[in-house]
This record gives sequence, structure tokens and C-alpha cells, in this order.
Amino acid sequence: MPSTLRVQLQLRIVSDDDSVIRDEVILQLDKSSDRLETVGLCLEDSKGLLGRLQHAVVEAQAAAYVNRHRCCSACGRHLRGKGQYPIVFRTAFGHVPLASPRFYRCRCQPADSRTFSPLTELFTEHTAPELLYLESRWASLISFGLTTALLKDVLPVADTTNPETVRQHLHKVATRQDADLGTSELDLSDDGLTAGQASPVPREAIIVGIDGGYLRNWHDKRKKFEVIVGKSIVEDRDNRYFGLVRSQDAAPKRRLRAVLERQGLPVDQPVTMLTDGGDSVRALVNDLPAGSEHHLVGSTLPCG
Ligand SMILES: [Zn+2]
Repeated sequence: MPSTLRVQLQLRIVSDDDSVIRDEVILQLDKSSDRLETVGLCLEDSKGLLGRLQHAVVEAQAAAYVNRHRCCSACGRHLRGKGQYPIVFRTAFGHVPLASPRFYRCRCQPADSRTFSPLTELFTEHTAPELLYLESRWASLISFGLTTALLKDVLPVADTTNPETVRQHLHKVATRQDADLGTSELDLSDDGLTAGQASPVPREAIIVGIDGGYLRNWHDKRKKFEVIVGKSIVEDRDNRYFGLVRSQDAAPKRRLRAVLERQGLPVDQPVTMLTDGGDSVRALVNDLPAGSEHHLVGSTLPCG
């Protein structure tokens, strides 16, 4: 028996009318079977495989999208082309360069512009949401540099991936999340009215503890800022932690509520809140749902 196996990956892409769009060997691996470390796929094999597969799939999807927009949607006339320009779709499985064609609009319909590029409607962003997710998730846990190294170790991300691009993507996601959160503060007690819709959890079953502390600004050592950290304790799950910078946050109460919600807490129900009674911490929790209790270290205060 030969000691080397040739593994060929054949990719076949078929459209819904059974016509074959692509049918070719996209990857060939020569695998010897004489040592333990050669058994199975190695990371480089997997990255090569994923990268080529991604290229082929994205190219086929883009081509299919362009084909569907090649004719006028009103009269069906074939649209005249006006060249093409390069775009790049950045994904967790590598950057995929694409040619984005431009077409003259059909004269049967009034339009603001003479030409259009169908792919701009498909690629509303040039970075895949999953790549942004991976970068943001890991960059919020470890440094930008380690995030870059981790992604490059396990995925065929582009060679150009570096700590700065990861940082830019994280900030982009953070800005969007801030926009989703809104800037107006809301009164947590307002939503107490809806409490009856969810199955009520006994107040004692949910305890949220928060505390604040001051850190020195790295860039301007004379300045300090306050970080508020907390822990949510719920009877039927592990404890969860959270943190926020009140002075940097346009809507700290809303963020606290969004974080607690993401941690699975029914924030419209009464909770037991533990704090050290500091002004900034109290300001965050002074609008708790009706029936909540706010405990200070060594004393107990009803809230509102
Ligand atoms: Zn037309």
C-alpha cells in the first residue's frame, strides 16, 4: 500500500434549476500516513480549505446576484454594462476580491442616476458580520494583539489583519451598540407595570451587587475616572459580572439595564440590590422596579 494519500476536494455548485455553476477540484492534499503528526488535517490544511471554499462560495453568490439584476425589473430589457470596479469582502475565512459591474439604468423608468452597481445593494457592508463578531468578542476579553494572533492561528483571516484593524472594528461595533441603546435615560420603575406578564421570580432569588472605584487615566495621569463593576447572583445559574464607565456613558442606567437583561435577569421585577451607598452607585440604582430592596453594607434601606 502507498504511504501517501492524495485527497482532492471537489466543489460542485448547482443552481436551483440544476445547472452546474462550478465543478472543479479546489484543493489537493498529499497526506502521508507514517507519523502521528501527519494524521488528519493540520491547521494549515483547514485554513487553505476554508479560504478556497469561501472564495468560491462568495464569488458564486455575487455572480448569481448580479445575474438577477442584469435585466430591467420593469420591462425585462438586458441592461448595457459600463465597466466594473474592484471591491473586497472581508470575512473570517479571508478577504474575497470581487469585480463589481456597473450597468446603465433602463430608460423605461425615471431614475436619479444613469448607472448603478447591483452589488452595492448586496454588500451594504464590506466586512462580514461574523468577522466583526469574532474580533469584537475576543478583543473585549484579551488584547488587540492577542486577538489578532488567535484569529491568525486558527482561521484563514487576511494577512493584513493587525491590532489596529481589530481595534477599529471593535469601535465600530461599540458605536453601533451605543446607537442601538439610545441616549435618553429611562426610569427602571416605569416598566414595573409589565412585571405581571413574565412569570415573577421571588425578589430574594435575584441579587445584584455593584461597587465603584477610581482608575487613573493612562494618557493623562492627572485625571481619574470611575469604573463601576457588579455581579448578578441568580439562584439557578452561575454568577455573572459586568462593568461600565459612568462618565463615558451617555445613558448609564439604560446600559446597566441592557446588561442585566442580557444576563437573563427579569429587570422589570423587584430585585435585591447591594451597594456601598456611594453617590454614583446610588444614582444608578435609584429607579429600581417597585418592591425592590437596596441594601447598604451593614444597613438596609427600602428603595423609594
Ligand atoms: Zn425597462
